[in-house]
Order: sequence, then C-alpha cells, then structure tokens
Amino acid sequence: MDYSDRHILIVEDEPKIAALLEDYLHQQGEFNTSWLARGDEVLERVRSDPPDLILLDLMLPGMDGIEVCKQVRAQSAVPIIMITARVEEIDRLLGLELGADDYICKPFSPREVVARVKAVLRRSVSTTEAGQVDGLKLDDAMHSAELDGNELQLTPVEFSLLKTLISQPGRLFSRDQLMNKMYSDYRIVSDRAVDTHIKNLRKKLSTAGAGKDLVESVYGLGYRYAG
Ligand code: CA
Repeated sequence: MDYSDRHILIVEDEPKIAALLEDYLHQQGEFNTSWLARGDEVLERVRSDPPDLILLDLMLPGMDGIEVCKQVRAQSAVPIIMITARVEEIDRLLGLELGADDYICKPFSPREVVARVKAVLRRSVSTTEAGQVDGLKLDDAMHSAELDGNELQLTPVEFSLLKTLISQPGRLFSRDQLMNKMYSDYRIVSDRAVDTHIKNLRKKLSTAGAGKDLVESVYGLGYRYAG
C-alpha cells in the first residue's frame, strides 16, 4: 500500500514528541504530516484541510482530546488514534465510546505508532476498496456504476467524483480537494463546475432510487458521501 499521499494530522502539545512522530511518519511511510499544538484548533483544521488520520493527544491546551474527539466525530468519520499518558486511561476512554479507532500509550516507540497508523488506514480502506457501499457498486474497469441494480449512466467526471467520495464514506472533501483528485484526468476549473457535476450526480442517484441524499453538501465547506 502506498501511503505517500496520506495526510496525518498530529495534535500534540509537546514539540519534541510531535517532531519525533513527524520524523518517523516521513521515514517509515512517506506520509504527509501537519501539526497542531492546541486542541481548540483541530475542528477548524479538519474542516479546511481534512486529514486521512488524526493522532490525538489526550491532554492538550485549549480543549482536551476527549472533547476534540467528540466534536470531530460529530462531523467526520476520519480515523482517530488517541494517545494517552497512562494505560489505565485507555479503559476509561473506551467506556466513553468516543469513536476513536485505536489507542496508544506513552511512552511509545515511534515504530509502534507507525504500525498502528498503517493498520488503521488499511482497515478504513478495506471496507471500501471493493467499490461497494450499501447498494452502490462501482466497476472501475467498465467505468460503470449501479445503485441497487439500477445502472447510473454517469459521465466520466461524475464517476470519478463518486469514486473519490465513497473511498472514504463520511469524510468531508473540500471542492479544492475534489478538483485536485481529478486534475490529472479531467479539468474541472472552478468551484462552480464541481457543484454542477455534484448536482447532476445527485439527481442520477435519486432517479436510480436513492432514498436519501447519498452525497451530502456541507454548507460552504464541500461534500461527503453520507450513505
Ligand atoms: Ca499533552
């Protein structure tokens, strides 16, 4: 698996630990990383530049990791690995049902962290890589898509948009990200053009019998697959 375009957001108030994690993630997986030292900046960052995974320290200035995890979960399915200082805390956190994907205890070996990051990413991909979510089936080779057995007759751009959105159900993609994902194949030159393609895609999904809006628009921010 290639991790080089995966963006890991590190939320950690101790610069030395953050730097250590960044070094390891760069060396071991060629991940892209970004770093925040405050809890109260996370939500804004997840909106403006959605990461593929968040490494989230528990004790943070501004807002603690528990509250950050709750707020992020309320709007995104991005995988979250929580980092705690004491192993006893993990039990308590599990009891809170925060929806974190994994827990790591300090002191950790950077090697362990990278292994966990890769495992969580593999898990989140393997649920969707078959191109099948709910009743939706995408055939890459044929560039065709079906919903509950009804063929969708998508244009290549619509197919590509749908494929990107369902690669990570629940993840919010900004218009820029959607444009970038497709730039190599199709030239979508403006935000407006993305909106138009999405509008057509939604119309086709609903005509094919989608009971609700599978592609959800998040006002001012972008789109996500809500299925
Ligand atoms: Ca801390």
